[in-house]
Amino acid sequence: MVDLKGQYAEIKDVVNSAIQEVIDTTSFINGPQVKAFQKNLETYLGVKHVIPCANGTDALQIAMMGLGLKPGDEVITADFTFAATVEVIALLNLTPVLVDVNPDDFNINIEAVKKAITPKTKAIVPVHLFGQCSNMEALMALAKEHNLYIIEDNAQGIGAKYTNSKGEKAMSGTIGHVASTSFFPSKNLGCYGDGGAIFTNDDDLAHIIRGVVNHGMYKRYHHDVVGVNSRLDSIQAAVLDAKLPHLDTYNNARRNAARAYNKAFVNHEKITTPKTVNKCDSICDTCDCHVFHQYTLKIENSDRDALAKHLNDNGIPCGVYYPIPLHKQKAYADSRYNEADFKVTNQLIKEVISLPMHTELDNEQIDFITKTVIEFVDNN
Ligand SMILES: *Cc1c(COP(=O)(O)O)cnc(C)c1O
Repeated sequence: MVDLKGQYAEIKDVVNSAIQEVIDTTSFINGPQVKAFQKNLETYLGVKHVIPCANGTDALQIAMMGLGLKPGDEVITADFTFAATVEVIALLNLTPVLVDVNPDDFNINIEAVKKAITPKTKAIVPVHLFGQCSNMEALMALAKEHNLYIIEDNAQGIGAKYTNSKGEKAMSGTIGHVASTSFFPSKNLGCYGDGGAIFTNDDDLAHIIRGVVNHGMYKRYHHDVVGVNSRLDSIQAAVLDAKLPHLDTYNNARRNAARAYNKAFVNHEKITTPKTVNKCDSICDTCDCHVFHQYTLKIENSDRDALAKHLNDNGIPCGVYYPIPLHKQKAYADSRYNEADFKVTNQLIKEVISLPMHTELDNEQIDFITKTVIEFVDNN
């Protein structure tokens, strides 16, 4: 699905010397690389505060701890996402409220969110799934109206831009009250291990969160709040700082691959290509709204699972993100949920398939992949 070796080969010298410098100085924890990366990411995103941490799941949890959410508070999130999002809600004894998503961009459905808001609702977690922003304008309006926090799960969307109805642009993860991201190796900005970060423009919240990530300490050995130990280590920060200048190039390479895939599948009756909804419905040449963490097709009137097997048999990796909706997972199922409210996710889990998507895909590979997909669905 990803070609991390090919990407590394291009930046090997810079990355190797950055890692070697950490080792030579033995500044493994909180070395100068962490601060440098934090500053550079703040500049790239145009956000006031980046707080690095150990992974994207921690980032979500810490954001919720920082906001002071309390057991019993309801947090609305998408039914169609990676489990990390709902896991941390449950872990903090908050009440997860899963809602349906849109059939075209796979992101949280605004009407479903509206229906789910109760007096106990305290936050909404939109997940910018597969690399494009949720409808942030509608979500921010709902947040204002109902006095809620918006926590952007930006693990899949780093580098994407959101354009509102006035034409104003902002980087994903800088629009809500707080956002989380992941630097897992296969994410759009990945390190060589685990890593994550929290973003916010709120000075007070940033201060609270800086304590939460460090055992609730604001002064050495004074623990004011219950915190966690969640750090981005210096080696990972060094890798990320070496890769950050390439992020836009990487995301462009992903968009080029998506454009080539789209072209090959255009007007195929059984294949729906991913829709780019934010002000740009065709991945135009200047598109900056989708960073294609995944390139996800919907397969109709064919056999998605047999297609996946056929691709694997031909040496083509593929993935089904996600095969089971969260509301049907043992850990998160709840008698409150009504199947009629999850029409879209229940359908998507049968139809979606994600094709290889990374920065090193070439035309020959795309040609082979698309031909193999089309040949199969034409005959099955
Ligand atoms: C990857 C991912 C996470 C978790 O990130 P980790 O760094 O693996 O903890 C959370 N949410 C979404 C949507 C993700 O894709």
